[in-house]
Amino acid sequence: MTATESNCVFCKIVRGEIPCKQVYEDDQVLAFNDIQPVAPVHVLIITKKHIATLYDATMDDSPVLGKMLAMAPELARKQGAQDGFRTIINTGRVALQEVQHLHIHVIGGPDSLGRMLPRKEI
Ligand code: AMP
Repeated sequence: MTATESNCVFCKIVRGEIPCKQVYEDDQVLAFNDIQPVAPVHVLIITKKHIATLYDATMDDSPVLGKMLAMAPELARKQGAQDGFRTIINTGRVALQEVQHLHIHVIGGPDSLGRMLPRKEI
């Protein structure tokens, strides 16, 4: 185990060292409720393998990344997002990625989430 993996909060969740409200698990991925939800449905789908960011994913990770996206709709529906949801992957400093372990946010609920990002002049 690398130093990064031993300190990584999501690796600790994968190893059962930190509790989570799990909603799905298989040999490659884990999904659990975000500890600070921004909407009634806010699930994180993570790789069990430590991949720090989407920048660090390789073509070899395509199958697990595809699975994470493909499972999102059913997960969202089961959690109560029947009429739409948003998937977000924050990557790096610019996106304010807080946890350095690849994850997809699945966010939804009965009400509109509003615009993805506020419009601004660029
Ligand atoms: P990001 O900014 O995309 O890295 O988002 C990280 C997310 O992980 C945030 O929404 C946090 O609320 C969430 N989070 C951090 N620690 C935990 C934890 N122990 N259990 C569940 N969610 C967590």
